[in-house]
Amino acid sequence: MSEAPRFAEPVTGRCLCGAVTITVTAMQAEVEICHCAMCQRWGGAFFAGLKGESVTVTGEGAITLYRSSEWAERAFCGTCGSNLWYRFLPTGHRSFLAGLFDLPQGMAIERQIFVDEKPDWYDIAQESPMLTGAEVIAEAMAQGLSFD
Ligand SMILES: [Zn+2]
Ligand SMILES: [Zn+2]
Repeated sequence: MSEAPRFAEPVTGRCLCGAVTITVTAMQAEVEICHCAMCQRWGGAFFAGLKGESVTVTGEGAITLYRSSEWAERAFCGTCGSNLWYRFLPTGHRSFLAGLFDLPQGMAIERQIFVDEKPDWYDIAQESPMLTGAEVIAEAMAQGLSFD
């Protein structure tokens, strides 16, 4: 997997009501798309996430955390309902919803995952690597992570 391009300046996003702001440094300038059934249930369709290095969050008191599985936690604003991030607990890494940020046009898709769970009523036109759920899990296990 090649290293994704990153924004030189910190990028700040916010939820719909503004109670929560999130500032991410060295944020990836490529979106990761997840089509899994849980992301669909969570957000209505696919999840579009962005990762970064250090993160500053304001309005922590407004945030509700939901443990969506053994290995993941999802956060949303308890006031306006905006989804905020997906945290993969084995690594602690968070992936923030792309829609929280004002982003430039022209961004690439890093990859699409769980493509085998994608409903057939939409397709993403932009060319990008596509992995099935089994391929993603195999990749994570190859990195020493366990889903038992
Ligand atoms: Zn809010
Ligand atoms: Zn997902």
